[in-house]
Amino acid sequence: MKYIILILLAFFYVPSTAQEKALIENLIIITTDGFRWQEVFNGMDSALANNKQYNEGKQESIFKKYWDDDATVRRKKLWPFFWGTIAERGQIFGNRKYDNNVNVANPYWFSYPGYSEIFTGYPDTLVNSNSYKSNPNTNVLAFLNRQPGFSGKIAAFGAWNAYERILNREVSGFPVVNAFDSFGGDNPNEREQLINEMLRDSYRIFGNEECFDVFTHYGAMESLKKNNLKVLYVAYGETDEFAHSGKYNSYLDAAHQFDKWMASLWDYLQNHPQYKNKTALFMTTDHGRGDAVTGSKWTSHGSEIAGADEIWFAVIAPGVKAKGEMKNKTQIYQKQFAQTFAELLGYQFTAEHPIGDSIKEIYR
Ligand SMILES: [Zn+2]
Repeated sequence: MKYIILILLAFFYVPSTAQEKALIENLIIITTDGFRWQEVFNGMDSALANNKQYNEGKQESIFKKYWDDDATVRRKKLWPFFWGTIAERGQIFGNRKYDNNVNVANPYWFSYPGYSEIFTGYPDTLVNSNSYKSNPNTNVLAFLNRQPGFSGKIAAFGAWNAYERILNREVSGFPVVNAFDSFGGDNPNEREQLINEMLRDSYRIFGNEECFDVFTHYGAMESLKKNNLKVLYVAYGETDEFAHSGKYNSYLDAAHQFDKWMASLWDYLQNHPQYKNKTALFMTTDHGRGDAVTGSKWTSHGSEIAGADEIWFAVIAPGVKAKGEMKNKTQIYQKQFAQTFAELLGYQFTAEHPIGDSIKEIYR
């Protein structure tokens, strides 16, 4: 009898997380390049804001915009949507004050290896340069694109011109629109035509390699609306660019604008039946940066910069409990993101290379 009960239990036992996971039909992945966990969790750093070398002569206004003595108030001034809606309804990992650690697993601590690790789940040591050729490792978006119902419903948009190689546009089978590429493919609508004209005529502050985030954002949003995408990736780049230039005020302004765009994206998702309560939103970054506390430069990153392997991520999704800022001791790696993306949509990502395990902590 005991055995019969056990067998019956085995038949009828469905873990609640698996039931809830099945509700997720769409996935939106967002990155803002090289944005430090230090600002995510503590808001503006007063030492950098006070430093004439970095504050762009805006000592008074930068404090007015982003300062408060209380770090929890301060971080919400910088990222009101993130520390409002996401903290209330999702999970936020990476506050090292609690030993809640998130790191990259690749040994390089810069962009191409980081994004490659995010999407392939494999910190391939051969992927060692930002000018690396088209990625030979299959990414999770290309895997999803081969699953039923996803073809034509996946697209990636990035401000930097390396995404077409990182996501191997030639073989992956979904659109990757990056830097100064036109939006809308062969059939841009009126809004896309205008975005394309403005993009073409815009000031190229970062050269031909990278456009301003505003174009990437509006082009991506238009595609989401027009094509009812099921999987969308948007990669913002200004946070990294302004940090490299030592412009701390611009770095914070770019991050603040990013948060506003996340709020408007969220608002769109909540008002459309395809997305409301059926969409996972995952936000992260490709690498960290230095920190004056450890004696390394906040403007820089790479394996010689202490702390540049330290990152963060946030997830908000049906079936993922609203726990807000995670304060338990843990260690999660960037190579775990790809399998987590697949699992959120109910798939097991398989490829020709090893893939990091999904993040189990988000279902506890
Ligand atoms: Zn960089």
